[in-house]
Amino acid sequence: MPDEQPPPSAVPEGFFTTGGSTSDLDRDALEARFLDLESRYRGLIDHLPAIVYIDLAERQMATAYVSPQIEDLLGITPQEYCADANLWASVMHPDDRDGAIEAYKTGAAGSQPFTFEYRLIARDGRTVWFSDSAIVINDENGRSLYIQGVMLDITDRKAAEEEISFLAFHDKLTGLANRAMFDEMLDLALARARRTERGAAVISLDLDNFKLIDDSFGHESANTLLVELAERLREATRDTDLVARAGGDEFLVLLSDIDPAPPVPGGADGASVASEAVAARVQQALAAPFESHGTELYITATMGVAAFPLDGDSSATLVKNADAAMLRAKRNGPGGFLMHATAEADALTKLSLSTRLRKAVQDRSWMLHYQPLIDLDSAKMVGVEALIRWPDATGGLVPPNDFIPLAEEMGLIDAIGDWVVEEICRQDALWRDGGLEMDIAFNLSPRQLWHPELVNKIMQPLLDGGVDPAKITVEITESTAMHDPDRTLVILEEMHDRGLHLAIDDFGTGYSSLSRLRHMPVDVLKIDRSFVRNVDGDRDAASMVSAMIALASNLGMTALAEGIETVGEWDFLRDRGCELGQGFHFARPMTGADILALHRRSSLRVISGDAS
Ligand code: C2E
Ligand code: MG
Ligand code: MG
Repeated sequence: MPDEQPPPSAVPEGFFTTGGSTSDLDRDALEARFLDLESRYRGLIDHLPAIVYIDLAERQMATAYVSPQIEDLLGITPQEYCADANLWASVMHPDDRDGAIEAYKTGAAGSQPFTFEYRLIARDGRTVWFSDSAIVINDENGRSLYIQGVMLDITDRKAAEEEISFLAFHDKLTGLANRAMFDEMLDLALARARRTERGAAVISLDLDNFKLIDDSFGHESANTLLVELAERLREATRDTDLVARAGGDEFLVLLSDIDPAPPVPGGADGASVASEAVAARVQQALAAPFESHGTELYITATMGVAAFPLDGDSSATLVKNADAAMLRAKRNGPGGFLMHATAEADALTKLSLSTRLRKAVQDRSWMLHYQPLIDLDSAKMVGVEALIRWPDATGGLVPPNDFIPLAEEMGLIDAIGDWVVEEICRQDALWRDGGLEMDIAFNLSPRQLWHPELVNKIMQPLLDGGVDPAKITVEITESTAMHDPDRTLVILEEMHDRGLHLAIDDFGTGYSSLSRLRHMPVDVLKIDRSFVRNVDGDRDAASMVSAMIALASNLGMTALAEGIETVGEWDFLRDRGCELGQGFHFARPMTGADILALHRRSSLRVISGDAS
């Protein structure tokens, strides 16, 4: 059909002529030749895989001629096109419109050939990419006459380019962004974060034991799983987050434009909250099993987070620190999640804790609190357990579980243990001065038990201070006692022979050999608080505790229940024949002075919670 098109009405006169003067003689011959040339030229133009156009220079964008291919490519007839000077701009892809018009006008005002690219929307809705090359034709005086151009359909080339650039920035298997894309997007996110003071965070995610799946099910199955996993990761993250495959079974997630303010006043900062939320969603997304060849497989991931600017202000540092946090999380076991700052802070606290602990050993800057031990029948205080406290810089008290294990690790426990015995002696003297005779229990940790001079180290201060060993009870935990029962037996016997009393602490949490226990010179069996909690409502705990009370009685020991917090627990224990107890229901650990005051105030019937 284009071939049959009549020449567009507005073809500028003489456009196809070369101009110039000719004599009348050869005029006919020339004209015949010209007509032949014109039709051949037209034939050529009309068959080019491109649109050729001629615009009038003085009326910008008014088209004088457009070749018929325009109808094939865009569904617009040449007549329509020439009749409407605005048509070109109106079928332009909106994203390209301003740029293309600008390029055209600039080119039309100059004298050099110019080329620009844009998309036009065809009548059937297709998007067609064009590369438009044009030149301005001037008359002999240098006045612009026409803009003559060729619009080449480059849609296929553009698609190929897009494909190539997609592949350059995406992981082929999963279609996720690749590392190159991630780095680029991270750079942009950081630039934005600096400008807007918003936050960004990088999550490094590593699948746990994925190699095992690869080895047992083969590469192809592993790949199928990775594809599904990528899909789940995409769903678990927000649209604005970028998930990238960094290689193998490693992934990176970029969270950008995070509001840095804590969502809850005084709570964690925005980056931590956002990344924890994503991590939780990822873990949830992985909770359902994956399927491979009819087998259900469970995949877990370990994650580490680094947030901008706290954990680094360049993309390389953030990724490195997120990886480091992930590796540290792995060490705590698979499936975990760790913030870099927290991970670092943990290491730092440990460092400064050990430095401070060393100094505390020099300064002996601890104190003992005493928790009343209660006769459950009469509710009277029959003794106290000495519990160590370490005053910290902020005026708080560091609980023993936070530093005793470290002190053991650092070999400082013996110094602490020596101090405890000395302090007990000092306190006992004060109490005696105040008219109070009090039985005192204190705790030994595992390492202390193996000190060759242990018994002398306990006995000497007692003797020096005039403290009767019979009022002192040494507590060792069940697991310590059972670690090496033969050796323990020798030590316990020695202590017993010197007049000290002995208690097995946290009973029920270790694995006692009853025949061993039977032969140990133990006076008190302290039932661990985990059994006492809810003992009046929990049938399992009730039968365990009843059995422990019976066992103590059979072995000739006194049962003491730890951690009594309610009247119900107290009633239950007393009814089952448990003789002694301690717990917040009666009294919290308190200073030596408070113990004396308490003693003076009453014969102690249900004292409730003086704070320590
Ligand atoms: P433990 O010997 O089993 O001490 C009892 C722990 O339970 C104490 O914690 C006490 O405060 C707590 N407690 C008492 N009643 C209740 C209650 O009703 N509810 C609850 N939730 N807790 C209660 P604390 O003082 O933190 O001591 C923890 C552990 O540290 C002790 O456990 C003991 O094993 C060790 N420890 C304490 N002082 C020393 C010490 O001087 N030397 C050594 N080596 N270890 C010590
Ligand atoms: Mg104890
Ligand atoms: Mg205990």
